[in-house]
Amino acid sequence: MSKPLIAIVGRPNVGKSTLFNKLCGKRMAIVDDTPGVTRDRLYAECEWRGKEVMLVDTGGIEPRADDVILKQMRFQAQLAIDSADVIVLVCDLRSGVTASDADVAAMLQKSGKPVVLCVNKCDTLGNPPPEFYEFYNLGLGDPIGVSSTHGHGTGDLLDACYEHIDFEHREDYDEEYVKVAVIGKPNVGKSSLINKIAGSERMIVSDIAGTTRDATDTVVENEFGKYVFIDTAGIRRKAKVEEAVERYSVLRAYMAVDRCDVAVIVIDGTVGFTEQDSKIAGYAHDQGKGCVVAVNKWDAVEKDDKTMQNFTKDLQEDFSFMSYVPFVFISALTGQRLKSMFEQINHVNGQNAMRITTGALNDVLAVATARMQPPSDKGKRLKIYYMTQASTRPPTFVCFVNRADLFHFSYQRYLENQIRQTFGLTGTPVRMVVRERG
Ligand code: GDP
Ligand code: GDP
Repeated sequence: MSKPLIAIVGRPNVGKSTLFNKLCGKRMAIVDDTPGVTRDRLYAECEWRGKEVMLVDTGGIEPRADDVILKQMRFQAQLAIDSADVIVLVCDLRSGVTASDADVAAMLQKSGKPVVLCVNKCDTLGNPPPEFYEFYNLGLGDPIGVSSTHGHGTGDLLDACYEHIDFEHREDYDEEYVKVAVIGKPNVGKSSLINKIAGSERMIVSDIAGTTRDATDTVVENEFGKYVFIDTAGIRRKAKVEEAVERYSVLRAYMAVDRCDVAVIVIDGTVGFTEQDSKIAGYAHDQGKGCVVAVNKWDAVEKDDKTMQNFTKDLQEDFSFMSYVPFVFISALTGQRLKSMFEQINHVNGQNAMRITTGALNDVLAVATARMQPPSDKGKRLKIYYMTQASTRPPTFVCFVNRADLFHFSYQRYLENQIRQTFGLTGTPVRMVVRERG
């Protein structure tokens, strides 16, 4: 289940990124007044009252330029409306209510999404100054006074956000729907792929009960099963600025991955692998999602009988950090091999949820440790007492050992490979958790 998403919107310099960093608990290296300073982090986890949410700082998406402030704000607000559970509109006590604050407040209110109004830079404790009451005019209910630099009021702010989140009942689609994030760089063909798949049977998301989550989701039911495709291209088309498109598409990819069961990493077959592909794929890997690499535009690739084989070999090298991933060569244009893509999605989804019994795991462990002795240091040898699978999505194995420091990465990798050789686990990352036991 994905974590609830809180989006922070507001004019430049009201303190969005300062607030974001305060809430996420880590101070960022650079927060200053220089316009155009790009933020390192715009999407991160935040824990409050024992529950986790994701925070997105929409201000990090577009470069700052005074003449387009309102356009930017509308763009950010739209992103928030499309994907957040709760939106925090940040204003600045010192500048009072501005015309763009009012404009965006109206836009947010019209969306029907829960909005929490934050008046930042309330640095003095005690009763708020008279200017504070002006913010009631925005029509968003009680403003919450916050000092992002000092931290006052941030707890109240999160409490107000949490009031709008039902942590118990937030499964947005039935279990039987496989949630597929289609991720990749701009122009690789993500939207074309989803359009091709949806075809004339495209269903409107609001037809499915209880789905308020994302306006750009596409629900598909076909002979392979029931799917929700999460399009990461979305509203970025409205953005004009190159850098914004870039940052925005990466952000959308992250948010989509967090919600998905399987990530289809689309790359452009006419261009080949690029660094950005590994970044996006790396996030899906880190988040433990099932993964399939779809090489698109295969129709436009000049080929002979060796092309696919050579391409696969190169890709295996490019994706060596996730050597479990299957490749499928498709065309969103002609529909070529979309069937095998669906078969892969189903397969990988099952593998990501695989359960292996403790008995079977320990049989593998016994054979593996006999074949290759565990590492030792200064006469002390690693002993792995036993393994058990603690959870699925991704399959997570807990190893009980005598000394964790002896359990080197390379030996963990070896064990992982032995497990994969026996059980497959195609297309899914696995995790190893090491526990010391005397
Ligand atoms: P953003 O553009 O909305 O993300 O704003 P920043 O977080 O970059 O903050 C803009 C400026 O306001 C920086 O100089 C911050 O140090 C300052 N600032 C942010 N929050 C507060 C606050 O609560 N009190 C005061 N006094 N200054 C703040
Ligand atoms: P997105 O930005 O990843 O959503 O990419 P689009 O779906 O907008 O596609 C970008 C461009 O690639 C468009 O001009 C598409 O017509 C083209 N395109 C997409 N898929 C294919 C394909 O399978 N074959 C060919 N030849 N072109 C494609």
